[in-house]
Amino acid sequence: MTDDPSPSAPTPHLIVVDSAELRPCSQCGARQWLAGLTYLVCAACGYRDGPTPQEILGQREGTP
Ligand SMILES: [Zn+2]
Repeated sequence: MTDDPSPSAPTPHLIVVDSAELRPCSQCGARQWLAGLTYLVCAACGYRDGPTPQEILGQREGTP
């Protein structure tokens, strides 16, 4: 039995950033973000701001 959900998609390391220069979350207004590679995730509500690396690389779904 494997306990690994998806070895091909490792969880990215999110760095906590809390800066007044960052804009507040558009959902809850918090200014504490978790910084991913190409995006920010609200630490309070989980709102994602910015494209994921997959979106930047290009989604093949619906794209010829
Ligand atoms: Zn939020």
